[in-house]
Formats: sequence, structure tokens, C-alpha cells
Amino acid sequence: MIRRLLDRLLASRRGAAPRVHPRERHAMRNEQLSAAARTVTAKLQQAGFKAFIVGGAVRDLLLGIAPKDFDVATDGTPEQVKPLFRRAFIIGRRFRLVHVHVGNEVIEVSTFRAAQTGDGATDEHGRLLSDNVYGTQAEDALRRDFTINALYFDPATESVWDYVGGLTDIRARRLKLIGPPVTRYREDPVRMLRAVRLAAKLGLTIDARSDEPIARLAPLMQNVPPARLFDEMQKLLLSGHAVETLQSLRVHGLSHGLLPLLGVIVEQPLGQRFIDAALGGTDQRLRDGKPVSPAFLFATLLWQRVLATWSDAKARGERPAPALFAAMDAVLAAQAQQLAIPRRFEATMKEIWSLQPRFEQRVGARPARLLEQPRFRAAYDFLLLRAAAGEVPQALADWWTRFQDASLDEREVMLRPDEAPAKRRRGRGRRRSARPADAQAVPDRLDESH
Ligand code: ATP
Ligand code: MG
Repeated sequence: MIRRLLDRLLASRRGAAPRVHPRERHAMRNEQLSAAARTVTAKLQQAGFKAFIVGGAVRDLLLGIAPKDFDVATDGTPEQVKPLFRRAFIIGRRFRLVHVHVGNEVIEVSTFRAAQTGDGATDEHGRLLSDNVYGTQAEDALRRDFTINALYFDPATESVWDYVGGLTDIRARRLKLIGPPVTRYREDPVRMLRAVRLAAKLGLTIDARSDEPIARLAPLMQNVPPARLFDEMQKLLLSGHAVETLQSLRVHGLSHGLLPLLGVIVEQPLGQRFIDAALGGTDQRLRDGKPVSPAFLFATLLWQRVLATWSDAKARGERPAPALFAAMDAVLAAQAQQLAIPRRFEATMKEIWSLQPRFEQRVGARPARLLEQPRFRAAYDFLLLRAAAGEVPQALADWWTRFQDASLDEREVMLRPDEAPAKRRRGRGRRRSARPADAQAVPDRLDESH
């Protein structure tokens, strides 16, 4: 009985008709598309396939924002799409799609697909295990997350195809899940994160029914595969609106689920100030069109944890340098279970962290050697944040700011007087006691410590 009802419902969804909004009814135009997006859709349509611009690009353009990239949806399978282009690659194991390279752009072409239903489609928490079945365009619209993300733009007619009332929600600046919110969040808890991220980034209000269950369902984030979480977290941090987004994640009870340590960190005043300074700086850089490094950002998010672990070890009597390396490894290992930070980032993060104690050393040839480190710049930017948060004296950061641009003579003068090279010969005991305890034991070069 229920099965029949479900089948009927599904059958009606398969063929559901869209509302087609002609070009006079909305502001999106072909000239806003990139050359590659136009080429790809035109070629697909010439070959007899349907081809639409879909998802984030349509949403952003209708909201008057420049899109990051263009995705195309089609009824052609990857095997049918690939031969139409000179440089096209089928990618993805779970769900296969085609990356078409045109000039220096990459257009992602995906085949319409349906949400899988029926026995075994979800785990015990309701999480969808696969979304790897082809479907109709109507089904493709319904499996998407938010109504404003399910709009299709047809470049041939400049019309917008809408199956779920997305255009109305764009006009109301409303972020609304397609379908019953609790089910949709259970199917994929990352959608909670996306709701908060997109609302902050686009200045939208989350619809009350989509907003209400988030705090309650936040623990479901624990089941999300770490690699997916990392991808969304990276988007969030690099959105240019990280400060507001993190604030909103906190309000929604989601910050604990993301970086398990983040909840703890932001509850400490110093941690909060440090992260706000880091994210604020990143947001500003993005607004200024400057590059930002994800590794740097993740290094900032986990620093307070490294510091705490390090001090515990030192309090137990461990030697500072090995204890710092052990603390970095422990924090990264704990984090790997929740958020799979790629290895290539880990190396950079460790370099940034391990250079920090060396900023305390302002004697002899050490500062000049530190300047030559390939990661000096990142480590110095990191030091500035520590100073802004009150973790180290601002005077220390200022010293390094001056030292970098100083001439050789000026540098000689800047080296701490009681530690200047001429006086060094006076005796190790005195010089050592002038330096902070941590700095003494941290070797100049990373490789010396292993
Ligand atoms: P951004 O501009 O930040 O990339 P986006 O909406 O384009 O935002 P993508 O991850 O690129 O985000 O996803 C492209 C499209 O795929 C979305 O617009 C949406 O239609 C669909 N989508 C993405 N993630 C999900 C999800 N978790 N559940 C359902 N549909 C999704
Ligand atoms: Mg996108």
C-alpha cells in the first residue's frame, strides 16, 4: 500500500513539469556566462542533448553576484558527452561526471540524476549512501538541496526552468530546503553546514522550517565522512564571510561537530580573539582579491590546541622541542578522524607552527637565518595574529616587522644589546638566561630536531 503510494508519488515526480520563466521574467542573460559555459552548452545542444547551466551559477547570477564557476546539467551520459569535446575527462568513482576544459576554464558536466530510494538506500541515521542513479530533469531538481540551487538556465532561449519555486525564493532572499527538512538533513547532514554557509555568504534568511531542526540534528555531523567535511569546511573558510559563518555555526550548535576542538577553543577568550583575527584577516584578503592559503587557515584554527597540548607536556617535564612536535602530531591525528586535512596541508601547518618559538630568539645569526626559511612569510603573518590576540607582546611582532626591512647595519643594532654578538663570548650561562625557556631548546632547523 505504502509502496504503491510511493511509486505513484515517484512517477509523478519523474514527469513533473517545470515552470519555464521566459527571459522577460528574470534578469539572467547569456552574456553573463563564461565563454566556456556557452561553448559547452551549445555543443551539447547541437548534438541533440539537453544542456542547462545549473546550481550555484544560476543562483548567484540571479542574485546579482559573479559566480565562481559554471556547472552544466545534461541528459547525456558521461560516455556520450566526453567524445563531443577535445579535452574532456570522466572523473569521479562514486558519481561519474565530465570535466570539459575550454581555454583555461573547466566546466563540470553532470548527467541528470535521481535520489535513490527504497531499502538499503540509507544508513541507520537516514543518511543516503549513494546518489549514483541517472534520472529525469525533474528528479535531478528534487534531489538538490535548496530551492534556489535547483534552477536551470537554458542558453538557447535564456529561460529559467523551475521545478521547486526557486525563483520566488530568490526574490524573497530565502534559503529553503526542497522537501521535508528533517529527512533532507538526515539524508545528508552536510546540508546543515551548507545552509549556514550559503545564508551567510549570500545574505539570505534561512526559512524557519529549514532553520528549526538544525540545532537538534547537529550531532548527525559525526557521521559525515571526514573528506566531505573538509571540502565544505574549506569552502566555508574561504567564502570571504568566515567570521559571520562561524558565528552562525555557533548559534546553530554546529561548531562542535565540525572541528571537535573548535567549540572548546572559542570558549577561551584568547582563542576566540585569535580565530577572529585570523578569519577577519582572511576575509579581508579575499575581498581584496589576494590569495589565501588553506594550510595557514587550518594552522590558525588548531593552534590553540597545539599550544595547550604543548604546555601540558612541558608541565610534565618533557623537553620543549620534542614536545612541540609531539603536540602537533597529536592534534593533527585527533583532527584527522573528524576532518581529513590533506597531508600536503599538514606539512605546511607544521612548518608554520614549529617556526613560532624561533621568533623569540633575537640573538646572533638566528634572526637572519629565520628570514631565509621558505615559510618565513607565513610564519611571520601567523606571529602577527598571535600578537593581535594578545598571546605574544606586540613589541615582538613589531621588532620582526622592522627587522625584515632593516639594513645589515641596522639589524646589528637591533639585536638585543645584552645578547649582541660581541657580548656573547662572555659566557653561555648569561646569554641563555636572557632568552625565554622555550626558545632555548627549539633548534634552528626543523631537520635537526628529528
Ligand atoms: P558554491 O557557490 O559555494 O560552490 P554551490 O551551490 O554551487 O555553492 P556546489 O558544492 O558547487 O555548491 O554544488 C553544486 C550544486 O549541487 C548545488 O547548487 C546543489 O544544487 C547541488 N548540491 C550540492 N551539495 C548538495 C547536497 N549536499 N545535497 C543536495 N544537493 C547538493
Ligand atoms: Mg559551485
